[in-house]
Amino acid sequence: MASPRHILIVNSRSVHHPVFVVGAPHSGADLIGRALKASPGFHVTIGQPSVLRTVYAFARRPSMHQGRPQAAAAVIRDAFAQGWQVSAHSCLECTRECRAAAGLPADAVGPCVDLRGLERFGDASPDLIYCAEALTYAFPDARIVQVIRDGQDVVASMLADPVVMSWFRPSFVNMDTEFPNPFFGIETEDDREIWPRLSPAGRCALRWRWSVRLAARLHHSLPAGQLKTIRYEDLMSKPDDALADLSRFTGTAVSAAQIRDEARTSRNRARARRTPGSALGTDDIAQLTKLAGEELRRLGYAS
Ligand SMILES: [Zn+2]
Repeated sequence: MASPRHILIVNSRSVHHPVFVVGAPHSGADLIGRALKASPGFHVTIGQPSVLRTVYAFARRPSMHQGRPQAAAAVIRDAFAQGWQVSAHSCLECTRECRAAAGLPADAVGPCVDLRGLERFGDASPDLIYCAEALTYAFPDARIVQVIRDGQDVVASMLADPVVMSWFRPSFVNMDTEFPNPFFGIETEDDREIWPRLSPAGRCALRWRWSVRLAARLHHSLPAGQLKTIRYEDLMSKPDDALADLSRFTGTAVSAAQIRDEARTSRNRARARRTPGSALGTDDIAQLTKLAGEELRRLGYAS
């Protein structure tokens, strides 16, 4: 998929090899985003309003952009041209996560990055995954990092997250006007038909399954140098190897401290747990296996 050469200039720097971190909710994309943001010379935005608006439009109304890749690419480039701009006010409207990742106190006045030495740009906004294919069109030299995590853990974490669960409110569900619906992981008429009867875990399972299917599609459409899939489990069990791999891929020394900390905490948590096993109940596991058994197996997560 080729698009006309288009070089985006931000703060008089041309954007080359921007890095985008994507994943299903609670897959660990936020961790990678924060580590990249802490890397020298890297301006990673997390939830800039201009970017969020675009991400939200793509996630909720994909039909608006379907079959219009040029227009979609222009919208995305504009959003980032604005979002990546570094000024005295640049982090003011960002999410709390972005400010914290930059080491800014909650009440500090931006910017979240030093203009001196700034060389690279990236973004790790929540739900960026719904723009992944359009991003590669908007930025043909983009590097996409996709984080994958065991569906059982993702579904369990989603169920415990009131923000994620609030998207399933009837007033928010737009299956009738948007089909297929990547946001809800609804791809076929069968999916649409069973959806109303699915448990909350089943609904989360469909969202996870869509992210795994997207990963497979990206693998087909992008050269190896443009897509890196990182397993959350590897990041936690062998953080140094995963970080070295990520540094090679992004062409920057990715800051390791936070991820090493997180990995240590996660190992301690696992050790403290008396009975190993899933955080999901048997009914939920059965539903996940029924809906996404093939994806779990393909990724080696089926027990
Ligand atoms: Zn920010």
